[in-house]
Amino acid sequence: MRKSKFVKLKLREAGFISRALLSTRHPVLAHLIPMRRCNLACGYCNEYDHTSSPVPLDIMKRRIDKLGFLGTSIVTISGGEPMMHPQLDDIIRQIRLRGMIAGLISNGYYFTPERIKRLNKAGLEYLQISIDNVEPDEVSRKSLRVLDKKLRYLSEYADFHVNINSVIGGGIKNPEDALSVARRAVELKFSTTVGVIHDGDGTLKPLSPKEKDIFQQVKKMGNKDHARLNWFQDSIAEGKPYNWRCRAGARYLYICEDGLVHWCSQQKGYPGIPLQDYSMADFDREYKTEKWCAPTCTLQCVHQVGILDNWRDPQQAPGLTKPESSLKDTIHEVLSAE
Ligand code: SF4
Ligand code: SF4
Repeated sequence: MRKSKFVKLKLREAGFISRALLSTRHPVLAHLIPMRRCNLACGYCNEYDHTSSPVPLDIMKRRIDKLGFLGTSIVTISGGEPMMHPQLDDIIRQIRLRGMIAGLISNGYYFTPERIKRLNKAGLEYLQISIDNVEPDEVSRKSLRVLDKKLRYLSEYADFHVNINSVIGGGIKNPEDALSVARRAVELKFSTTVGVIHDGDGTLKPLSPKEKDIFQQVKKMGNKDHARLNWFQDSIAEGKPYNWRCRAGARYLYICEDGLVHWCSQQKGYPGIPLQDYSMADFDREYKTEKWCAPTCTLQCVHQVGILDNWRDPQQAPGLTKPESSLKDTIHEVLSAE
């Protein structure tokens, strides 16, 4: 990324952070899904299919306009594999047109010099690629050996910030792979982060001593800002719950391919309201709602957004944040759950 562009991006980010600290009444980050389809089939993933069509551009533009109307600061396009959407560049342009920061999460497979130059032109500002291992195996083909050529292209042509995320825990076969991935990222002048994940059954278990040691080494090599923001990971690495206030549904929004707002990729269906109908009343209710999944949550970006408001506005259990008029719905939900 050119230095002048990097400085401009950092200044815009600083502006958005100040605005988020001054006012709690707008989303900071939205994940937007333009396509559920993916070219891969990672063994741990429940966020893809192999058949669905891309969401039409005019619908995507309307969703982006609504996010702009709500005052959203950053929109990150995710999937499935969003690079498979035929009008991804127009989607990015629309995000920029509405004055928001444009980010992308991709598995990296579709990057060619020509495609990277088009993304530069469209105005992409952030890219994150997660690399799971060095050699592909039956669980994941997001592998350093397969993607290294793509990383070299990005290093040469990308005029946007590139972050490479590696993972540790969750029974990943070779924890030392995270070190190789982070070293390669640093060599190519990308930033690097590491995600701590749960075991396959979702339980919180401490990392093994070897995994902990590698986790600390990778963290030291990484982006200092991210390391500072991700201290929740130290609790997760120890297998301990972490106490924080998740502001999903308000400061963080996850918008699926059907245009519904969910807390996040792991908690779909809450609140499950169409983005076009999403109001500040919905925003306020979710802002105040305590999330039962928070103590064991590993979603880095939602934690980072949460830091802005962790010190203010305590939350309440879901039933208590509903207006009185919907008390009947709450009772109905409790009875159905019973
Ligand atoms: S590349 Fe991403 S979306 Fe596709 S299967 Fe793997 S984890 Fe899921
Ligand atoms: S705590 Fe984590 S899993 Fe639960 S809603 Fe928030 S982001 Fe999603």
